[in-house]
Amino acid sequence: MPKIQRLSTTDPDFNTQLDALLAWDSVSDSAVRQRVAEIIEQVRQRGDAALCDYTSRFDGWQPTSAAALELPLERLRQALRAIPAAQREALDLAAARIRAYAERQRLQSWEYIEADGTLLGQKITPLDRVGLYVPGGKAAYPSSVLMNAVPAKVAGVAELIMVVPTPRGELNELVLAAAAIAGVDRVFALGGAQAIAALAYGTETVPAVDKVVGPGNIYVATAKRAVFGQVGIDMVAGPSEILILCDGQTDPDWIAMDLFSQAEHDEDAQSILVSWDAAYLERVLASIERLLPGMERADTIATSLTSRGALILARDQDDATRVANRIAPEHLELSVADPQALAAKIRHAGAIFMGRHTAEALGDYCAGPNHVLPTSRTARFSSPLGVYDFQKRSSLIMASPAGAANLAATASKLARGEGLTAHARSAELRGDPG
Ligand code: NAD
Repeated sequence: MPKIQRLSTTDPDFNTQLDALLAWDSVSDSAVRQRVAEIIEQVRQRGDAALCDYTSRFDGWQPTSAAALELPLERLRQALRAIPAAQREALDLAAARIRAYAERQRLQSWEYIEADGTLLGQKITPLDRVGLYVPGGKAAYPSSVLMNAVPAKVAGVAELIMVVPTPRGELNELVLAAAAIAGVDRVFALGGAQAIAALAYGTETVPAVDKVVGPGNIYVATAKRAVFGQVGIDMVAGPSEILILCDGQTDPDWIAMDLFSQAEHDEDAQSILVSWDAAYLERVLASIERLLPGMERADTIATSLTSRGALILARDQDDATRVANRIAPEHLELSVADPQALAAKIRHAGAIFMGRHTAEALGDYCAGPNHVLPTSRTARFSSPLGVYDFQKRSSLIMASPAGAANLAATASKLARGEGLTAHARSAELRGDPG
């Protein structure tokens, strides 16, 4: 049985204990950093040949040629025809819901005209070509295909290039079917740091993209951080997390299963429950112990709960809210009587699941909001993947003759203050009505 850490906010050492519990640095391991730097360099120098070598080494199959790394679009359509009807229906429904939500996120261009006739505005343009990383080392994630590709499509990205590792050369039909539904343009059977390097720098076969998005393991995350600047990235995602705030009135089996649902992702995933009802924490613990042996991924869940999980006793709901804002979790469940009132007090969370019936798993697949979310406390400054990640902004300025004269008076003073005479003269020439 997992030995889950028990913390109490009344403990004088609570803050130190919480910091230790949350500590995670995706790039602290210099060996991983070094390996990833070497992979990126090899892909830059040797292109396709390096991709074939790494695929053989890390994914356990040898492409016959670089061309074999690309999956023809007809192969995606074939997968779509072959999957069971119920799966097709579920993927279609999820895609439609993700699309409907994403449509509301689209940024619009805007303009306004000042009294002297000068026009100012902001022009929104979709990115030209985007790379979608779909993880696939230990498990397959058709849901991640939809979550990455659908917002890109809604933004109007012209070309979507997807990469997905195929361990031992085995293709996942649901992943391919999801790519067909989402309208991905090209798919390469590539994973890890080599896939990120190929997307960032391009090879003979893989085109270079403008931005790389999507979750992945530590090699993927480290590679994304390394290529940032050459290309844009969405975020550097760490292991998945759930934080549940519960008033003690939810069926403890529901809460135990919600904790498991993150823990089963991987050993480093983090599941934390905070309640202000001490007896309730014992009831959830009893549910965990009873339900765990029956879980398919019991070993992963047990390791995750033991190494990074916790049950935290708070003084009251406000105290629990302070803990939640400090943790800034990727997923936050508010399993309380009045979740909307509590949500109003939450400042930092990737996604907030409100009410006893809102299992995080609903959001993982089909509620509509994106499941690619900021982890490792980065919800303090970043947001879920969305349409806005696939759009960029250009400023617009069109000065009227009168507007130029007005602006020149100020610009020339500031430019002369900075000692930039050409700037000042350039502005003054427009400002001189004669
Ligand atoms: P992955 O696709 O991220 O990684 C597989 C690749 O890792 C392999 O192709 C290989 O190139 C590389 N690799 C493996 N061992 C290596 C080594 N020793 N040296 C160099 N490269 C190596 O697949 P995964 O491993 O299953 O990880 C998926 C991750 O994505 C998990 O952590 C999961 O929790 C996360 N995930 C997150 C979300 C989200 O929305 N946040 C969704 C789905 C998955």
